[in-house]
Amino acid sequence: MSSFAIISDVHANLEALNTVLRKIEEDNVDAILFLGDSVGYGPEPDECIEVLTGSAKILLAGNHDRAAAGLSDMSSFNPYAKAAIEWTRDKMSKENIAFLKELPLTAEINENDMFLVHSTPKEPEQWHYLTFEHDARVNFKYFEQIICFLGHSHIPFIVEASPGGNIRFHYRLTEIKDNCRYIVNAGSVGQPRDGNPDAAYALMKGNTVEIKRVSYDIVLTQKKMRKAGLPSYLIERLAVGR
Ligand code: ZN
Repeated sequence: MSSFAIISDVHANLEALNTVLRKIEEDNVDAILFLGDSVGYGPEPDECIEVLTGSAKILLAGNHDRAAAGLSDMSSFNPYAKAAIEWTRDKMSKENIAFLKELPLTAEINENDMFLVHSTPKEPEQWHYLTFEHDARVNFKYFEQIICFLGHSHIPFIVEASPGGNIRFHYRLTEIKDNCRYIVNAGSVGQPRDGNPDAAYALMKGNTVEIKRVSYDIVLTQKKMRKAGLPSYLIERLAVGR
């Protein structure tokens, strides 16, 4: 079994990304997997794509990547997200926009019996959120593997389904049991929304899955966002993790 650090929702926050990658060096994993939303909200889209392509073995597309690449409409985006995507499109290099267009929506890692997606296994392109027990129950039917990693809601958790159909939510660490299946939300590197402003990622190593948190220089990211003229709502939310 290989070990992995799973990161998601970087959202052009280079300070958070670099801090998380430095932390991951201590985890000593075989590879880093990225679940999508490299851009949108934050001030350094090109830089984040370059760092991600240099560090992650697999990269998926998120809804903000697709929107920045002009592949999906922004009807579900709030005005701040929309403004940030417009800013991102103007700022990004043509090469990186072309790169975003090519990213897949899902991936499988057979060796570890893992399925990867940004939003949900059921309808990856509909960008639904997997939040409640009911959502988990439905989505377990839409992948065959033991464990699915996803992101999108920026709220990390580990859902465990027992063979009898019991569903349990964990928030920090879980042992992978032989007869159970799992859905893990890796949280967000660049814009956490669970009330904890620290960057989040998931670590799968040995027989455990863990949600890890890392504090980074939020003030520096906010400074760069202000300089870029990004909406103040997006700047302020980083400090509260909402
Ligand atoms: Zn996101």
